[in-house]
Amino acid sequence: MIMKTEVLENIRGQIAKLKNVENGFYASRFRDVNPEDIRTQADFENLPFTDKDNLRDAYPLGLAAVSTDEIVRIHSSSGTTGTPVIIPYTRGDVEDWAVMFKRCYEIAGITKKDRIHITPGYGLWTAGIGFQAGAELLGAMAVPMGPGNTEKQIRFMQDIGSTVLCATSSYALLLAEEIARRGVRNSLKLKKGVIGSERWGEKMRRRIASELGVTLYDIYGLTEIYGPGIGISCDEDAGMHMFDDYLFYEIIDPKTGKTVPDGTIGELVITTLRKQGAPLIRYRTHDLTRAIPGECACGCKFPRIDSILGRTDDMVKVKGVNIFPGQIDEILREIDGVSSEYQVMIDHLEGKDWITLFFETDLPSDERKALGVAVQSHFKARIGVTILTKPVSIGELPRSEKKATRIFDNRY
Ligand code: ZN
Repeated sequence: MIMKTEVLENIRGQIAKLKNVENGFYASRFRDVNPEDIRTQADFENLPFTDKDNLRDAYPLGLAAVSTDEIVRIHSSSGTTGTPVIIPYTRGDVEDWAVMFKRCYEIAGITKKDRIHITPGYGLWTAGIGFQAGAELLGAMAVPMGPGNTEKQIRFMQDIGSTVLCATSSYALLLAEEIARRGVRNSLKLKKGVIGSERWGEKMRRRIASELGVTLYDIYGLTEIYGPGIGISCDEDAGMHMFDDYLFYEIIDPKTGKTVPDGTIGELVITTLRKQGAPLIRYRTHDLTRAIPGECACGCKFPRIDSILGRTDDMVKVKGVNIFPGQIDEILREIDGVSSEYQVMIDHLEGKDWITLFFETDLPSDERKALGVAVQSHFKARIGVTILTKPVSIGELPRSEKKATRIFDNRY
């Protein structure tokens, strides 16, 4: 993404200010950076990245870039291990977040006449309260359910007449299945679903949309950068619009750190432009996506990124090419006769990397060879790498309750 002059100026100003923050985090981060040296986008791209570990080191309130008197709220991101990350918000940050969230609702065609059923959690996590503040600013009726208690969720949807469901994809699916099981769809007024931006397959999306009979929108965000609501998909369903007046974003190769061309998949890196409590410069989200060039047919001028295609941790580099599960899901979906379960083995033999793709199919054994060849040539055409394919019967690959590991790198 080309950096506008005013964005460069903004970043120069932010760094000059952050260098003077009394607590150590920002001062030490930018100690060796002279803001006047940041004259071009290339200069900016030489600034160090910020990663979650850096934020953890600032626990508990080391991230506050203003006097703690000005902090009106904190949130904390759910780290799986160790020290949590605490993000301080000023009144201005809280307001800016609500303004962005209101925009998200508007892009999704939601109005003050809507009744917004909010199932993401409240508390230290940023989700629920973000959905709520945006709904209130819009003037819609917020129904702050929080997660769980499916019985009550459905009852409130019926009795309050909720028109918009906000949920994670997994909770939306659970509710959709329960609503279908009870045969109560016709007693609901749901029209739209605003679904959190975890990666979810097309099959899951289609099921939620058809069982609930709603239009779905992908909403993006992360606690470190306000929370959900910094971008959303529109009726064109052609990527998520990102609010580039509040953030500057880059797509980088997660292995080299270099910016990739528009359209190439890489890691999303975000710089905040207005955040006061805890501004972040070049924050690595570890989310994989791509910049979508050009203007959207919906008329909205905010630039777009693709829906989240996976996490950088899931990515492997083979024969000079980055490969990750979201891509393989996509390829397999396009071929009839291939089920959604697969496993990839990467081995290093006789000086070469070998990729073997096991996938399940319900085709009889005499038709599997041709299917294997079809998958192989499709993979070659889409990713540019030749692989070995091994079709197996449905149920032969291991199932996992938790997130399934699909790529096994046996090279090291
Ligand atoms: Zn659009």
